Amino acid sequence: MLLILGAGPAGLGAAHATTVPYRIFEQAAVGGLSRSFEVEGRIFDYGGHAFFTSHEEVRTLLWSAQRQPPFVQLRRAFIWHDGTVIPYPFQGNLRGLPPDVIVDCLTGLIAAVESRTGRAPTNLAEWLQQSFGEGICRHFMTPYNEKVWAFPLNTIVPEWVGHRIVQPDFRSIVAGAITDRTFTSFPNNQVAYPAEGGFGAFYSALVDTSVEPNLTFDRATAVYLDRKVVDFSSGRQVAYDQLITSVDLDEFIGMVTPVPGPISELRPDLQHNSLAVVSLVISGLETDMQRLYVADSSVIFHKLVFNSNSAPSLRRAQETSVQCEISFSAHKPLPAGDLLERAVSDLDRVGLLPAGSDVVAADLRYVDKAYPVSTAASIAAREGICDWLVTRDVHPVGRFGAWRYVNSDGACYAGMCAAREAVR
Ligand SMILES: Cc1cc2nc3c(=O)[nH]c(=O)nc-3n(C[C@H](O)[C@H](O)[C@H](O)COP(=O)(O)OP(=O)(O)OC[C@H]3O[C@@H](n4cnc5c(N)ncnc54)[C@H](O)[C@@H]3O)c2cc1C
Repeated sequence: MLLILGAGPAGLGAAHATTVPYRIFEQAAVGGLSRSFEVEGRIFDYGGHAFFTSHEEVRTLLWSAQRQPPFVQLRRAFIWHDGTVIPYPFQGNLRGLPPDVIVDCLTGLIAAVESRTGRAPTNLAEWLQQSFGEGICRHFMTPYNEKVWAFPLNTIVPEWVGHRIVQPDFRSIVAGAITDRTFTSFPNNQVAYPAEGGFGAFYSALVDTSVEPNLTFDRATAVYLDRKVVDFSSGRQVAYDQLITSVDLDEFIGMVTPVPGPISELRPDLQHNSLAVVSLVISGLETDMQRLYVADSSVIFHKLVFNSNSAPSLRRAQETSVQCEISFSAHKPLPAGDLLERAVSDLDRVGLLPAGSDVVAADLRYVDKAYPVSTAASIAAREGICDWLVTRDVHPVGRFGAWRYVNSDGACYAGMCAAREAVR
């Protein structure tokens, strides 16, 4: 029997792809980090979620599970830079910035291109400098990435940047600075969201008549590799032939017996950051923005997500639901004071509390594990632990299950691949 732990995107992907009898266990709610919640009837996600993918198989699975076709739209994302708002991405749309800033960005880019040696950058700070030059880094890339990651950029290995940071070529950056063409050639320029409900509706729809009989709500508490048995908090014990786990890898290793000393010692090297999410409902504000990115370190949030613009079903007249994302870690703790008050006052600072507007609902919650951070030690720990688990018929998958910076589509795809791998 195949046993799957976790009914987030990875576990549900595995459930749909397997061809053998299986059971899937979830400790809390279907959807995991991709689930949604309500604040006084308005829907939010745990940080801004929108769907795009290069995995056609995942798209087909999700689309076929929805009662109505998902809502697809162009991504209206912007950057706030010292009072000026320009289209996302910063590096592709410099045109609206003050002339001195554009000069800094273009001269820095030219210097970076001229000094390229072909030596591969070893960390994110170097990668940003080599790719964009001093001006773009100083005015946006460095402070923005320091805010999102809450880790020193020279400790982060840029293994994921190819998929995540838009890299216009030299000509496109120059064109974006001096012509009136908006740069839109990036993979998530078109995004999808469920027609009804929050982002979580994409994944709750995967609990269909084929999955439901195999799904149990119970928490795995111990895994005995020699006997191939898992204990659950209800007291039940379940035997398996192969185990797919999307439980956070650090926590999972803590449940496993026996674990060799050198594997156990890798646990503290697994690095992550955390997120505070402030969700606000503002009456008297109407905007068609979906995202606003803010690099300025004196503004508390790095990103605003206008979730009421994610799909028509979420819109209400003369009202906007907006969520502020605030990253933190041991390297960059949350600021002292009331986060809700600070988020509201910084929303005002970026011009989103016009006269006559009012905050009519507010909510603060935390995501303890938000982004796995790819330091060299963290990558080595992830590889060491995952490679060992596979030799014991355990297949770690997903964002924190395999400690990889994947979105929900990547997690779902990894679950599908593991389900096929597990029965070979
Ligand atoms: C700020 C932010 C923005 C994001 N934006 C996007 C986006 O725009 N688009 C996108 O596609 N993705 C986005 N993501 C990523 C997405 O949320 C995750 O990649 C995805 O949910 C990971 O799926 P998973 O199945 O690997 O893990 P999870 O979603 O974490 O699911 C794991 C499941 O395992 C369960 N579990 C844990 N321990 C146990 C146990 N002991 N026993 C039983 N069950 C257990 C959990 O309760 C959970 O349901 C974003 C994430 C963040 C933090």
